[in-house]
Amino acid sequence: MLDKDITYCKNVGSRRADILRKELHVETAADLLEVYPYKYIDRSRFYYLHEIADEDTFVQVKGEILEYHTMGIGRAQRMSATFTDGQSQIELVWFKGIQYLKLQTGVPYLLFGKPSKFQHSYNFVHPELTPLDKVTPQMVSGLEPYYNTTERMKKANINSKALRTIIAGLMPDVERGLPETLHADILQHYHLINRTQAIRQIHFPEDTPAMQKARERLKFEELFYNQLSILSRASARRRNTDGFKMPMVGRLFNTFYRNYLPFELTNAQKRVVREIHEDMKSGKQMNRLLQGDVGSGKTLVALLCALLTVDNGYQACIMAPTEILAQQHYRTICDMLGNLPIRVELLTGSTTKKQRAEIFPALLSGEIHLLLGTHALIEDDVQFANLGLAIVDEQHRFGVAQRAKLWAKNIRPPHVLVMTATPIPRTLAMTVYGDLQVSIIDELPPGRKPVQTYHSSNRRRKSVNEFIAKQVNQGRQVYVVYPLIQENEELDLADLENGYNNLVQAFPDYRISMIHGKMKAADKDAQMKRFVSGETQILVATTVIEVGVNVPNASVMIIEDAERFGLSQLHQLRGRVGRGAEQSFCVLLTPTEISADTRKRMDIMVATNDGFRIAEADLQLRGPGDIDGTMQSGMAFDFKIANVATDGQILSLAREAANSVLDADPLLSTPYTAIYRDKLAQMQSASVEFREIS
Ligand code: ADP
Ligand code: MG
Repeated sequence: MLDKDITYCKNVGSRRADILRKELHVETAADLLEVYPYKYIDRSRFYYLHEIADEDTFVQVKGEILEYHTMGIGRAQRMSATFTDGQSQIELVWFKGIQYLKLQTGVPYLLFGKPSKFQHSYNFVHPELTPLDKVTPQMVSGLEPYYNTTERMKKANINSKALRTIIAGLMPDVERGLPETLHADILQHYHLINRTQAIRQIHFPEDTPAMQKARERLKFEELFYNQLSILSRASARRRNTDGFKMPMVGRLFNTFYRNYLPFELTNAQKRVVREIHEDMKSGKQMNRLLQGDVGSGKTLVALLCALLTVDNGYQACIMAPTEILAQQHYRTICDMLGNLPIRVELLTGSTTKKQRAEIFPALLSGEIHLLLGTHALIEDDVQFANLGLAIVDEQHRFGVAQRAKLWAKNIRPPHVLVMTATPIPRTLAMTVYGDLQVSIIDELPPGRKPVQTYHSSNRRRKSVNEFIAKQVNQGRQVYVVYPLIQENEELDLADLENGYNNLVQAFPDYRISMIHGKMKAADKDAQMKRFVSGETQILVATTVIEVGVNVPNASVMIIEDAERFGLSQLHQLRGRVGRGAEQSFCVLLTPTEISADTRKRMDIMVATNDGFRIAEADLQLRGPGDIDGTMQSGMAFDFKIANVATDGQILSLAREAANSVLDADPLLSTPYTAIYRDKLAQMQSASVEFREIS
């Protein structure tokens, strides 16, 4: 019965069905049952008007209308009524549908709605008024569900209430019993209610505890299937995708490790290189995420893995998100490699035709061992002889499609290592990147002093400047960063230039560089070089410097309009300093008046340098949809009821359950696991899966 097209559901019909299909992506009655309420309003409580204290709470009040009248004409016409609960009075207003209103004075009504504040008192706009003798006990017992609706739905008169009526029409079918999607042993072990109960209670809850049990069960189900899908694919891929076998630790690696390494690796770096090498020699294709806070030394790990690859007769490449970063990698890596017999080349958007004409054939013949660059690397005419390892730095800056192109650079996909300094909260890593193996560098090179962070009002610029002067006089360098956001680019550019001019005036004796996204690559590069070489003491820039830039002598990071940056971005920016032996500082400047949310974000930045804690806080504050790197995957916020920001605990249990199912039957091939297999097949046919593409 529940497989039927929504057109044939009670209270729907073809016109409404069209809208529901488009707006809610539902096809069948069963789909409609999975349109869950986003909140409930407690209709068992009655209020007095004097108890109204805010605009956000729905209230219901018993009372009557003292008088009513219409005002204005035509489209501006509205209806106003005075309502009393016997103690005090309040105004009710209608702007629309006035011709249908049949108000009566002296009749007892139940008023229901959300108060709005108008000037200094409250009123109700478009409240629901039901004559008291028409109020059924069901209407005012328990929790009333509210459903999200879109503008187009509202226009077609499908508001939350109409949706509730439609869903109510399906309940007789539900009561005949819904197919269960979780086995009894799982229900029992995790104390979950069955599906029929859950669907009934989510839409028409008896009371709050029953509603919560329903939510728990449905969240568990959703996360369980998410994990089952990810884990079964991951194990299938590991079983099936052959990878290039790279067992050798050869001459290049050993010579470099013994004679060229400028410092001792941290224990975390050693462990991570081992983990990666285990994958590379396994014969299975590696798909690994390397997480490590800014400054933890990921570049060196990347280089070591590239050397292993070359030792085994394959080529490697490292792709970085910006030209500046690619060039920096090229310089540091060439410096470190000295005269080792390995050919490294750089390919970016500004590589000339002539240079390309040299690089391409050498790449195809295998003379080039390691290619560094920007997304120029994934262009079609870049062809390798035998690419064995593709490394993507700051992977969240790349789209899924771009990363997928790297997979196609050899007949078999090369090993893939994606690196990020934006720590991904555990729950997101499990749901979005569940198919990636994860390595973590959880240790900074020795001798680093944690950056000290301060939050200050931008009115205190004078003392900030004094601070800059003090640092520069001690030989340090300073970053001053401005936001640059697409919508008001012009204004922001003006801000940046103003800031630059002010600094030039305030510090006539210093040299100052400026970089922003509107400059030509060559100019940017020249400015950056001046700063890197120490010729300029201050660098005024937009977020182009956010990722990866490494100037160990820079010890101060001033962030202007810090309230306009996300937490992970602030953390990235702060990571530009604290790379040398000196104590470093980060100053977050905001207006004096800031929102509570901004205050929280600044407080977290001041309180901790731990990227994982910051990422976790970011997830809590902004929700999963906004976290860097998850946008493109479109997965984490696709849940109907689960929320990775708040349901970490249920997620862990669901993962445990999914793992135990797969442990017992990895291929889901027995009759017992048929329900899981079928539902997975259904889910997977409905969605394009990008997860396996690193
Ligand atoms: P990130 O992980 O942010 O990419 P980098 O690879 O740029 O970090 O490294 C940051 C700095 O730390 C570089 O100057 C690098 O040379 C240095 N570094 C890396 N590993 C070590 C180590 N084991 N000991 C000391 N310094 C290191
Ligand atoms: Mg880096």
